[in-house]
Amino acid sequence: MDIAETIDQARQTTAAARRAGRTVGLVPTMGALHEGHLSLIRRCRSECDLTAVSLFVNPTQFAPGEDFDRYPRSFAADRDACAALGVDLLFAPSAGQMYPGDLLTWVHVNRITDHLCGATRPGFFDGVCTVVAKLFHIIQPDRAYFGEKDAQQLAVVTRMVADLDFPVEIRACPIVRDADGLALSSRNRYLDLAQRRSAVCLSRALEQARRLVAAGQTEATALIETIRTAIAREPQARIDYISIVEKEFFQPVTVIEAPCLIALAVYFGTARLIDNITVDPSNQRP
Ligand code: AMP
Repeated sequence: MDIAETIDQARQTTAAARRAGRTVGLVPTMGALHEGHLSLIRRCRSECDLTAVSLFVNPTQFAPGEDFDRYPRSFAADRDACAALGVDLLFAPSAGQMYPGDLLTWVHVNRITDHLCGATRPGFFDGVCTVVAKLFHIIQPDRAYFGEKDAQQLAVVTRMVADLDFPVEIRACPIVRDADGLALSSRNRYLDLAQRRSAVCLSRALEQARRLVAAGQTEATALIETIRTAIAREPQARIDYISIVEKEFFQPVTVIEAPCLIALAVYFGTARLIDNITVDPSNQRP
């Protein structure tokens, strides 16, 4: 496995692969790898000749006061996990390498970023889009792999690629969960034992909402209230948002008439966890 810390090194490896007619896949990550990331890497390996994984805790997507400084960093374990999976290129740049001076150019996607994390983390998606655009220019992948865990991010990046004609196919990968249903996340490492036990309420509440939709409930307010009540039973949980949005522009709906996303963000202590589920009213029980 090649490990590149500079943009030039990474470009050399991927350019050589492209010249040899090999397809290049990219899995962008912030490291602290878990089975969710590994599922993206495996999929990339199965579909591309060269698999590149980027490992970069991107400072421009964190607001002051967020967890940039204490975000889990585990380079040695991440490197070993990538090597074991047969990753060809690990791109692990420093912040100085990616942002050598003041950044005057940003990518901003409108509308899809109005709600959910776009509303409660102002500037977050500008940081994400800008770093993903940079990674796409550096690696020039044929395909890039993103998790449905970050459903809004996936939609925003897909739109950026379409609007700005990036020659890359975005591949969506399903959410990987722990046995009890909690979506895997690097931020789960912040949870103490009691918080970890409580956090299962997120996936349970989303599942409960899915069952209600299957049983004919399509009123967004009622569904959100059910989820809110279930989560509020956990004393450690502090809700950031619970929303039901359509899946193109991520705008809130009042009635679920087509497949919609129920998305939430909830704090347990200082850990802000997100999760989502797609509900489809045409999947109602007869
Ligand atoms: P992160 O390192 O958290 O920025 O995530 C890097 C990529 O892994 C993103 O595309 C995430 O959506 C994806 N990812 C993170 N957690 C999961 C999960 N539990 N299941 C599937 N994909 C995930």
